[in-house]
Amino acid sequence: MELLKIHGAGDVRVDEYERPAAGPKDVVVQMKSVGICGSDLSYIKMGGIPPGVETALGHEGAGEVIEVGGEVTGIAVGDAVIVNPMMTPGNIGSGGPEGAFTQELLVREARLGDSILPIPEGISYDVAAMCEPLAVAMHGVNRAEVKPGDKVVVFGCGPIGLGMLLWLVDRGIEDVVAFDLAEERLERARALGVQAALNPAQVDVRAELARLHGEVPSYGRVGVGTDAYIDAAGAPSILTDVIMMAKLHARLVITAAYMKPIEFPVGRMLTSEMTITTAVGYPTEMPEVIAAMPRLQDKIAAMISHKLPFGNVLEGLQIAATPQSAKVMIGFEDA
Ligand SMILES: [Zn+2]
Repeated sequence: MELLKIHGAGDVRVDEYERPAAGPKDVVVQMKSVGICGSDLSYIKMGGIPPGVETALGHEGAGEVIEVGGEVTGIAVGDAVIVNPMMTPGNIGSGGPEGAFTQELLVREARLGDSILPIPEGISYDVAAMCEPLAVAMHGVNRAEVKPGDKVVVFGCGPIGLGMLLWLVDRGIEDVVAFDLAEERLERARALGVQAALNPAQVDVRAELARLHGEVPSYGRVGVGTDAYIDAAGAPSILTDVIMMAKLHARLVITAAYMKPIEFPVGRMLTSEMTITTAVGYPTEMPEVIAAMPRLQDKIAAMISHKLPFGNVLEGLQIAATPQSAKVMIGFEDA
């Protein structure tokens, strides 16, 4: 067997690996599809979780159960499942000993409906493996407390930003504007049915939002009509731009990983009483994501821009770092 592991900053390798035997509370899942995540790329840059500690990668996995411990209930050999890494004791792929970029994943203390979630009938493993990033995206939308009729902006149309657009459109939000620097990503955003998908390097963001979402005066200045902004891009200028154009009680949710401190004009926030908050992970969202898969599977499949076999996972990591890619999926069918 093999396992994708970080050995140091920028040093990621496919290692020979012997899977630990499953205990009575554990299950083993033969991986079928595992997505490459932006956070995998961040962990590689950092040199592990925590930096300097060898780290197994892969947390967006779906596969078939091939072994079930004697004390596990409700899970059977042959079940098609999604692994929820947040609910595993070792935090699979984010610092623990196990990572999903391996042929056979040991899931310790497996519990049905918790760390192991059944894939609905007729859903492919590729679509099932999108559960994790789509749950991250849904949590970001939930943290934005978007209501029917709200006008929303999403910065960044990578896999997480696209997922946010998917959920916003699915919830009937019509006034959704997406921003990204890559034309390929803007095309994918348009295909999801957003109001507009624009390149902030080519347009005046404030002027476009004033045109699309209107303008609202408050406390002697005029803000744009956007109710909620979601930052899935992490460009340092976003906070300042949003604060300067925010209307009264606008909301900003940051889901991007800012690696460095940034300055922003707090004083300007005084007259907008705006809210800035963050969103991370998916404490409750996975079951709702899975329930939506039969309805949205075509749109979800369209978010996968590349599919490579596990033998080419290092190449996949490079592709995932390019702005032209969306989700890069690793398949294990003939591994
Ligand atoms: Zn992820």
